Amino acid sequence: MTTLYGGSDSLINHGRCARCEQPIDRHKVPYIRPDGSAALLDSFKDAVYRLARSVLQKSGPALPPATMMGAAVASFKSQKMLYVTISGDSAGKILPNIDRKGLPKETIFVQDTTVLVNGKLLGIKGQPFTPAVLSWRDSADIRQERYFTPGQCAAQKLLSQIFTTTKQRGAAPECISLAETFFRDYPSDSGKRIWDTADFAESCDTCKQVLPQMLCDLAD
Ligand SMILES: [Zn+2]
Ligand SMILES: [Zn+2]
Repeated sequence: MTTLYGGSDSLINHGRCARCEQPIDRHKVPYIRPDGSAALLDSFKDAVYRLARSVLQKSGPALPPATMMGAAVASFKSQKMLYVTISGDSAGKILPNIDRKGLPKETIFVQDTTVLVNGKLLGIKGQPFTPAVLSWRDSADIRQERYFTPGQCAAQKLLSQIFTTTKQRGAAPECISLAETFFRDYPSDSGKRIWDTADFAESCDTCKQVLPQMLCDLAD
């Protein structure tokens, strides 16, 4: 089954958007497919692994034991924008140390720790809104290990950057693709590290709730 981001997930509200209260599939962009970002994600993944290997050999900024790596491609007004990031607060420390070899030179590294500003995220029209999010404390359907503070996830950082840029240019995103996968560092007995090379990762339990709200064009 294809991983889709920001839609068709019934974890919350039985498929309804917490903002406009319509079914999520009524949004102009009802979900985001990963396919168009797969090549960019692969190159980024290679670059992160290269950094992880070099960190093992000499001192450098340590990578978090587990983080989500994300890549997004967005087009508007016949311009194509490429973005990569990792989740969490290491983005600002790790990304400047990544060797860009293999990545298209126009790739933008999103270095924000969080894109939650004054409790607000950005919607698809660049409009700030207060996300409605349930945590594992509020709902038995949400798993603690899959819940993260809103604003810190790779997918949210990527979309926020896209929506900031399109609003600045007075455009709407015409086509967005986004793909995520894990970086996980498992030390093994032999001293070798195993880095996860799984396929596209599905959203965490925060993104399942928040991404549809980011794709909603309702003003706050
Ligand atoms: Zn997430
Ligand atoms: Zn909505």
